[in-house]
Amino acid sequence: MQANRLSFDVKPNAHPMDEASRLKAFENLGFGTLFSDHMAVVRWSADKGWHGAEITARAPFPIDPASSVLHYAQEIFEGMKAYRTADGRAVLFRPEENARRFNDSARRMAMPELPEADFLAAVEALVRIDAKWIPEGEGSLYLRPFMFASETFLGVRPSKEYIFCVIASPVGPYFKGGAKPVKIWVSETYTRAAAGGTGAAKCGGNYAASLVAQSEAAAQGCDQVVFLDAAEHRWIEELGGMNVFFVMQDGSITTPPLGGTILPGITRKSLVALAREEGFTVNEERYSFDQWKADVESGKVTEAFACGTAAVVAGIGTVKHSGGEFRIGNGETGPVTGKLREALVGIQRGTREDRHHWVRAI
Ligand code: PMP
Repeated sequence: MQANRLSFDVKPNAHPMDEASRLKAFENLGFGTLFSDHMAVVRWSADKGWHGAEITARAPFPIDPASSVLHYAQEIFEGMKAYRTADGRAVLFRPEENARRFNDSARRMAMPELPEADFLAAVEALVRIDAKWIPEGEGSLYLRPFMFASETFLGVRPSKEYIFCVIASPVGPYFKGGAKPVKIWVSETYTRAAAGGTGAAKCGGNYAASLVAQSEAAAQGCDQVVFLDAAEHRWIEELGGMNVFFVMQDGSITTPPLGGTILPGITRKSLVALAREEGFTVNEERYSFDQWKADVESGKVTEAFACGTAAVVAGIGTVKHSGGEFRIGNGETGPVTGKLREALVGIQRGTREDRHHWVRAI
């Protein structure tokens, strides 16, 4: 609808957090509890298209009780990070991939697409104004672009108004144990997505539907849930918020294929490329839970790991299921997992050559 790039009206927060309070808050970073001073907002309406782009103080949105997102969950989001490199630059990692996936999600949810250049401009403008919110060291500034249906209307059809917004949250490690291997729970009761459903879209509803399985995992003393396919309850799909990889004794690596029921992770795609460069054969093919269990027992599988923007690369130490539990290798993070993690983090932090031009300075 609009031909030109959006230009963001910058209205600085008149009451930003003072430096001492910010640095104090940085001392105990969790995940997603602390927020930066600003947000980026762009609105869409059927008659005007995208308009009203601004960077403004982070503040609540007034929401009408009949706002369609509250009833039919037309909402999508992205998850990405700004990193502080060893030489002090603020960088993003493959942000154009997030922009593209955001629009893939928008199409699936019958929402308007935001031109990739405008998505990137919103994210970059926010990181620029809130650059001091990127923690030094191992932390990073988690960025959450999202869009929701904001029309006041109760009919079941795509909304005619939307709000796109980006907020930022300085974060430490995703898992409480830090870099320790995680324990996962195999859900045999709940599935995440079926063929033709919304599994490949990053829509809020997918996560709402996964929470009961995640709670079951927590009640079992596990960090995350792993889902099996909806048709046969046999094939391993992904974790609640991460993709999964299996390292074999013969030096090959297997990860479930992108068949429309799992999220096409950007970390997954990057690790597939890095592992191939390191000389591993990477097979994107179906792998059953029963096979996994048998292969761990026989020693054919030596490592398994989960990966995603938030958790980066996390070794899977123990797998629990209704029939018992098993340990992978010695239950610690394996050498291949460690090597791939280092390769990825090195590129993100600027200590390794960025051969693919994945890093974008702001
Ligand atoms: N699967 C799911 C369900 C996720 O929510 C995420 C996090 N976005 C991932 C996989 C990993 O994706 P990415 O590497 O792009 O963060």
